[in-house]
Amino acid sequence: RTAIVLFTRDLRVHDQPALAAACANAERVVPLFVLDPALAGRSPNRDRFLVQSLADLRESLRGRGGDLILRHGDPVAETIRLAGETGAEGIAVSADVSRYARRREIRLRAEADRHRLSLRLFPGLTVVDPGAVTPAGGDHYKVFTPYFRAWSTGEWRAEVATPRSVPLPSGIAVGRLPALPAGESPHAAAGGETAGRRLLRGWLGGIDRYDDIHDDLAADATSRLSPYLRFGCVSPLAVARAAGDRAGPFVRQLCWRDFHHQVAYAFPDLSTVAYRPTATEEWRYDADALAAWQEGRTGVPVVDAGMRQLRAEGWMHNRARLITAGFLTKQLGLDWRRGVEWFHRWLLDGDVANNSGNWQWVAGTGNDTKPYRRFNPVRQAHRFDPAGDYVRRWIPELESIPDGSIHEPWLRNETLPYPPPISA
Ligand code: FAD
Repeated sequence: RTAIVLFTRDLRVHDQPALAAACANAERVVPLFVLDPALAGRSPNRDRFLVQSLADLRESLRGRGGDLILRHGDPVAETIRLAGETGAEGIAVSADVSRYARRREIRLRAEADRHRLSLRLFPGLTVVDPGAVTPAGGDHYKVFTPYFRAWSTGEWRAEVATPRSVPLPSGIAVGRLPALPAGESPHAAAGGETAGRRLLRGWLGGIDRYDDIHDDLAADATSRLSPYLRFGCVSPLAVARAAGDRAGPFVRQLCWRDFHHQVAYAFPDLSTVAYRPTATEEWRYDADALAAWQEGRTGVPVVDAGMRQLRAEGWMHNRARLITAGFLTKQLGLDWRRGVEWFHRWLLDGDVANNSGNWQWVAGTGNDTKPYRRFNPVRQAHRFDPAGDYVRRWIPELESIPDGSIHEPWLRNETLPYPPPISA
């Protein structure tokens, strides 16, 4: 028997339930990735990370006697076509939450039925499946703390073994990897399971410090695993298990990721529609202010530092994301959807659930239990970058200011090559 494993954002061989099941149950396994033109070009940074991840996955599969078959086009049509060419009877795929992914899943099921192929969905994109942990009388948790309680004390699936061999049928055209896209951020991390696993191993050594310094902007002491989780180069479950303490501060962040996934699963419009429609939703339109925010020249150093880090690295520290997003929505009064779009273009970890879920949280239209909270960016800067080192790293115009007073350059009696702060 032959099975196709349709890879999507589960680009790994370890703890990959769909791949493991296919290897256990079929004599021949066809690992497939379809480059979908509908998804390409939204983020040059992620396009690059994806190709790097595919190259690494292909190497791993080749090392196991298999290969990664690459096709271009509609994933559903290409999967069905390849099933015909290889005589496959089954298709294995990881279940996903976004509207696009779920429509693809529904179409794939319809086509599989029509061609008398079996389609099996597998877990693996989150620690706990969306929909697996639900409150009494509801389909998803709207508040994080009770979700975390249920999530951390509930059953987790066992990790699956990495297949030793992936027996590819003979005679399939494997398909070429696309040329490596240029990306937009000069200092973006490189994709792939090998890089992700290496990062994880190194990270576990420093995990004890996480609680104390994860919010310190200059210390840069978070895991930076998010792009690898986004593309499934590391298994969220394996990361959570390796971290040990299920109720600990780092695993709690992985639970936030699951939390937003279960919200997106229940509320597929999360990127465009306010989750909590009762909140005030009167956004200003101000193209100049939006451009200043995007380009890191609002005149508020900590905001500009975050926005410049985003463009340079395709990643931003979580505390800086909170500050910059709060500044756009609560200080400038601009629509959170503009923030979703901009972040989605640059972030290597950009995904529908986490990006939109967090933006709505900050804007007060989402799951925050205190939707009217307002971060004061200057106070945040003094608290989380007391010596100003984070700002100095990203804003060379201000590097002559030696201490925390860098956060309020407007109070200084000197002319600096830096704009005055904008406001609504
Ligand atoms: P760590 O602190 O090491 O945390 C470990 C992992 O937990 C992360 O890799 C991530 O997968 C998860 N995590 C941590 N914080 C959150 C959170 N608040 N929500 C969901 N998951 C979390 N994260 C994304 O993965 N993709 C996004 O598109 C994204 N957009 C965001 C937009 C805004 C406005 C804000 C405020 C936050 C956003 N986040 C997003 C959440 C968070 O900022 C990043 O996950 C985190 O900074 C990634 O760095 P890290 O891997 O070093 O995190």
